[in-house]
Amino acid sequence: MIRKLIRKVLDLPSGIGKSRARPRIIALAQHGVRRDQLSHAALKVTLRLQEAGYQAYVVGGAVRDLLLDVTPKDFDVATSATPEQVHHLFRRSRIIGRRFRIVHVMMGPETIEVTTFRGGLIDDRSESGRIMADNSFGSQEEDAHRRDFTVNALFYDPSNETIIDYHHGVRDLKARRLVMIGQPARRYQEDPVRMLRAVRLAAKLGFEIDSDTRRPIREHAGLLKKEPAARLFDEMLKLLTSGQAYACLAKLREEGLSRGVFPLLDVVMGDEGDEAFLRLALSSTDSRIRADKPISVGFLLATLLWRQVWQRWQQRISEGEKPHLALAEAIADVESEQDNDMAIPRRFSVTMREIWTLQTRFDSRAGARPFRFLEQPRFRAAYDFLALRAKAGEVDPALVEWWTDFQDADEEGRAALIEAARQAPDAVRAPARRRRRRTPRKREDAA
Ligand code: ATP
Ligand code: MG
Repeated sequence: MIRKLIRKVLDLPSGIGKSRARPRIIALAQHGVRRDQLSHAALKVTLRLQEAGYQAYVVGGAVRDLLLDVTPKDFDVATSATPEQVHHLFRRSRIIGRRFRIVHVMMGPETIEVTTFRGGLIDDRSESGRIMADNSFGSQEEDAHRRDFTVNALFYDPSNETIIDYHHGVRDLKARRLVMIGQPARRYQEDPVRMLRAVRLAAKLGFEIDSDTRRPIREHAGLLKKEPAARLFDEMLKLLTSGQAYACLAKLREEGLSRGVFPLLDVVMGDEGDEAFLRLALSSTDSRIRADKPISVGFLLATLLWRQVWQRWQQRISEGEKPHLALAEAIADVESEQDNDMAIPRRFSVTMREIWTLQTRFDSRAGARPFRFLEQPRFRAAYDFLALRAKAGEVDPALVEWWTDFQDADEEGRAALIEAARQAPDAVRAPARRRRRRTPRKREDAA
């Protein structure tokens, strides 16, 4: 009884401070995950570590996803070997991270993240209980206890195709339930980002957040403000590129996390009336991600912040400014208002600004200008953006059609389009057109 109380107060796993807790060992016949469902590199790294005498398992999201029949994004391996020992075994590997030291093992096109079992002891905590440093190593059981949700704490052993389950992860997975390991409030104090992970994973997997896991979120939401902006930005990106971005945002709002956490989202979600554009933008990203197509983060951010730019742009035009200049100034306004608060890395903000800036060039359909515009490296992204604006009722769909035709037309067809635009600059609908054979274009990725 007393031991049980001490464990509860210290939030220790049930196995610590007494004899080891026995995990459930689940056989292939019950779980159905075969070793050939692992990636080549994940299988090889795990087996090589085992051959060298260490314990090694595939762990975390990959095991969870395989059980759900979802193709894992990446594979993580947990091992009893220290980072140095792992590094020593694999020629193409490097030790990274400070707060959590992990090893990246590169094999063919893949990178496998290998972490050493974490111990129950946390090296360094801030006053609020936040984990500041954490490099103590431990057993598999302790490692399981340090993970966030029960469904994320499953270990898969490819040598005998078993799953090792310390926290009823398989049961919760079957019930489609996200359950925090240990005391949820305490786990959020240790690492507030876990609240965002709960929301993202629940939306992505279509799981319920268990009531005990969910309850403390609202109360602890404020802790997120103290997280480094870069980490929050990364987390927000994961949320927006989860394939369920709109569902994630709706859930953030539901859990009281939509305001005051991501400065960018505050701006985006501030105006309920503009929800239509947000929904449109996110659903197009979601469907690209679900179809396994590349997306551009710069483009996504451009859509998210466009309302801000657009309102200021229209304002300046109504005050008599030229559209082109008005747009440049509106962009500058939005950028300076947000400044660095949003922690948007430069490689994304540059693309974002370019997509916006190019919007006025679609109006110039005379002479050599449209031809020059086609040569612009960001033409395609700017055009896609224009199409989105048309869908939102902000520009005449005929303008988009003109540019669609212009891209597809042959020399003669283009001349005809320019002539049509000259004669009727406002009636932009294109005349009968000659199409060039359409060659599939790849959307530029990464930025
Ligand atoms: P995704 O599908 O987004 O990759 P994931 O669960 O695999 O989801 P990762 O960020 O890849 O997420 O983390 C891998 C594993 O590391 C998790 O499954 C979980 O076990 C553990 N983990 C990650 N972040 C935390 C955290 N903040 N606190 C505790 N455990 C964590
Ligand atoms: Mg993962």
